[in-house]
Amino acid sequence: MYCVKCGAVNDDNAVQCVLCGVPLRRPDAPANPPQAQYPPQAQYPPQPQYPQQPQYPQQPQYPQRPPVQPQYPPPGYGYGYPFPAPVQVPNLLVPAVLITVLCCPLLGIPAIVYASQANSKAAIGDAYGAQSAANSAKVWCWIAGILGFVVNVFAFVMGIAAEVAKTPSGLGR
Ligand SMILES: [Zn+2]
Repeated sequence: MYCVKCGAVNDDNAVQCVLCGVPLRRPDAPANPPQAQYPPQAQYPPQPQYPQQPQYPQQPQYPQRPPVQPQYPPPGYGYGYPFPAPVQVPNLLVPAVLITVLCCPLLGIPAIVYASQANSKAAIGDAYGAQSAANSAKVWCWIAGILGFVVNVFAFVMGIAAEVAKTPSGLGR
C-alpha cells in the first residue's frame, strides 16, 4: 500500500509509514475498494458559472491511488536458469586474436588458446576453470602486447638508426 502522506511504498500490513511515520490504515479496516480504474465521474452537470462559485472547488472525490502491483521478484535471482548455469567471464578471444595479429604472433597464441578455453568452460558452467583460463589469457595478452610493442619500437628505432648510419652527415661519422 502507498502512504497517503508521502506516497512511499509500504508493506500491506504496515502500521505506519516507513518513510514519514504517518499511521496507515489497517488492511482489515473497512477499506475503499480500489477505485483507480473508475473513469472520471462527471457527478456535477456542466456548470458554466463555475468560476463564479468558489464554494464548489474541484475536488477529486476518489484519490487516484495507483493499483497495487504484483510483487515480482527482481529478475535474475534464482529463476529460470537451467543447470548448469552459464558463467559470465570476460571474452578475451577478440583482443587475443588482435594482439596476435598486430603485435606478436608467437606469444599471442597462448592467449588465444586460453581465451577459447575460458569461453568453452564458461559455456559448460565451469566457473573456476573459466575464470582461471580467462586470467591466463589476460596475462598472455599483456605479455604478447607489451613484448610486441617493445619489439616493434625496437625495430623502429633500429630502422631509424640504420638510416642515420647510412647517411654520411649522420651522427657518429
Ligand atoms: Zn509516508
